[in-house]
Amino acid sequence: MGRTPGSRTLHQLIYTSRVRIPWPDQDREVESIVHASIRNNRLVDVTGLLLVHEGWFVQALEGPTEAVLATYSRISEDPRHEDCKVLHAAPAERRSFEDWNMCARRMTPADDAILETLSMRASFEPYALTGLQVLRLLKSVRGIQRRTQLAALG
Ligand code: FAD
Repeated sequence: MGRTPGSRTLHQLIYTSRVRIPWPDQDREVESIVHASIRNNRLVDVTGLLLVHEGWFVQALEGPTEAVLATYSRISEDPRHEDCKVLHAAPAERRSFEDWNMCARRMTPADDAILETLSMRASFEPYALTGLQVLRLLKSVRGIQRRTQLAALG
């Protein structure tokens, strides 16, 4: 059975939203979101990265167009966050997060250098970021994540 042309087109979507999870439950809920994401995204060939920082989610989703749009549509209805705003949505030639079946990364004080480099240290305001800036942020986070994992493997 042939695939429709749209299903072959690689699409990248990055959005930001406000976390709406009471503080004591945040780690458990983010873990549950990551588990659901890995389970579901793998089935539809969607990869990406989820960042949680200072009360914001920033997430990249990439994969076949219909799968990315359907996933985002489901996510945007989730009561664990609000005020979703798409920062970037466009066809992509290749994946930026192909190794990442949706790991979540909480920024720590050790990551200040990233935010400083990207001129985001003073205030983290994802609503004000351009698509290019947010892509650079997520790629930097992915780079750190990869180095941390390699270091852990020795
Ligand atoms: P289950 O995980 O089994 O959940 C069943 C139903 O209960 C769903 O409707 C779910 O929304 C709801 N639910 C579960 N836990 C809670 C809770 N604690 N509070 C309120 N409602 C709850 N899903 C993906 O598939 N891929 C992603 O990349 C992805 N990214 C996400 C990013 C963010 C910031 C958030 C908030 C959610 C994300 N989700 C993602 C989760 C998504 O919104 C759906 O919850 C999930 O896809 C539903 O998966 P499921 O059908 O396997 O249902």
